Amino acid sequence: IVVAADVRKTFGSVQALDGVSIEISTGRVLCIVGPSGSGKSTFLRCINQLERIDSGAIWVDGELVGYRRVGDKLYELTDAEVARQRLASGMVFQRFNLFQHLTAIENIIEGPVTVQKRRRSEAIDEAVALLDQVGLAAKRDAYPSELSGGQQQRVAIARALAMRPKLMLFDEPTSALDPELVGDVLAVMRNLASSGMTMIVVTHELGFAREVANEVVFMDQGAIVERGPPQDVLVHPQQQRTRDFIAAVL
Ligand code: ATP
Ligand code: MG
Repeated sequence: IVVAADVRKTFGSVQALDGVSIEISTGRVLCIVGPSGSGKSTFLRCINQLERIDSGAIWVDGELVGYRRVGDKLYELTDAEVARQRLASGMVFQRFNLFQHLTAIENIIEGPVTVQKRRRSEAIDEAVALLDQVGLAAKRDAYPSELSGGQQQRVAIARALAMRPKLMLFDEPTSALDPELVGDVLAVMRNLASSGMTMIVVTHELGFAREVANEVVFMDQGAIVERGPPQDVLVHPQQQRTRDFIAAVL
């Protein structure tokens, strides 16, 4: 469902992505690990067009991201077309960035109602089910300030799911949380994976990656150093850089 081919991205003199290629098929979970500054967030942001790539190509759900090909020429998509493509992926960030002035359920129905023009009553029914799915049925009318970080992050996941994305992108969803709140969020993500959702997860939670990922990619300095089944990359890494990273995280 996602194919990235030789993706490059620079910020000034920083080569954030230096030829990254991946493939992930429907229903699979890919975990990306790597040190700070290795380009993990940039890569997710390129997939859902928060950043524009310099070269290479990304396809999501069969569509070339950001461009239309006519003959052998590429044309940039309009903002409206980019906005439509972006709906294919739901993104969850390190900081939960919920709308502070909206309750949990209002946060969840906001996109479906205002962006997707779905019926409010239908959006509410679906939001109630999603709140239940993330274990927060009792918090539907709570404001973000009344929720713990872990609860806010679970609302953020429900909000992303409410848009019915084809895949979910997670950028260190638990790294801003107090340790005792991490488990509940990972449990929601684990259930989501079992339900068949396609997921790309940037995380330092190597235990989660080992249990849930179908494939793990280790990135360093904008490039993929090593990839494979979690057992290979995380337990028996071939590359010294991977070994050093795992030793530092554990
Ligand atoms: P972390 O684990 O700390 O989140 P990361 O692997 O997500 O790191 P990125 O945020 O993708 O790393 O950054 C990759 C490189 O690109 C870094 O050197 C970073 O400083 C640089 N970079 C990222 N975004 C920008 C930006 N908007 N402007 C300038 N440089 C940027
Ligand atoms: Mg990052």
